[in-house]
Amino acid sequence: MTQPYDLLKQLVALDAHFKYQARAPAGETWFDTVVGSHPVLVSAPHACAHSRNGELKMQEEYTGAIALYLAQVCDCHAIVARHQADEDPNWHVESEYKNAIQSLVERHNIGFLIDLHGMMNRYHMGVAIGTIKGGSCDPSMVEPHFIDAGFVSAEVHGLQQSVEAWRNVVVDHPRFTGGVVNHTVTRFVAQQLNIQSVQIELASEVRVVESAATQDWPCEYRGNPEAIVASVHSLQSLIRSSGC
Ligand SMILES: [Zn+2]
Repeated sequence: MTQPYDLLKQLVALDAHFKYQARAPAGETWFDTVVGSHPVLVSAPHACAHSRNGELKMQEEYTGAIALYLAQVCDCHAIVARHQADEDPNWHVESEYKNAIQSLVERHNIGFLIDLHGMMNRYHMGVAIGTIKGGSCDPSMVEPHFIDAGFVSAEVHGLQQSVEAWRNVVVDHPRFTGGVVNHTVTRFVAQQLNIQSVQIELASEVRVVESAATQDWPCEYRGNPEAIVASVHSLQSLIRSSGC
């Protein structure tokens, strides 16, 4: 297993590939794809700023870096937003990004998709697993990987106040169902492409290694190294057990 310090350093290096609020050069797509040999696809559609019905939504930092890291260590496939987009693939029905997922899935016989997102810390949980109430995959194939890495299931105990907030993992939280109402990537893959999929929302604490102050967010931020290592190891374990 990679040493925690190396893992965090690699995430910072990978994060430098992302042009959060810049357009792709003419003739290039705003997202990148990585082809692997293990039949799982990790997606990070909100890794850069994107536009939903004319409103600019901010990037979900480090979701792209984590997806690229997982593709490297698990030899799986990845698709990540690397520049600002004029669409929101997790909202719009017609989407260049969804079309690219369809062609990757069909070309490489992919059997499982993990759609990574970033949520704020304010929900008092580190990870929200969205399975469309079991419609996109069985939650019991996902959650145990997080529990094994040190997270605590809110299914059994509710959100625990007695543990660090990041350790709480919730399945199908009403706010993060993975697509009961919206045209998410997870829903598209499950219902249109007929393969299993899951949406995983990671709080800032479990994904952002370091983030400089910007105009939009005037404070430097560092997540919790132990929490970031735990979330990445959970995802590695999930990928290795899936897709075959
Ligand atoms: Zn998102």
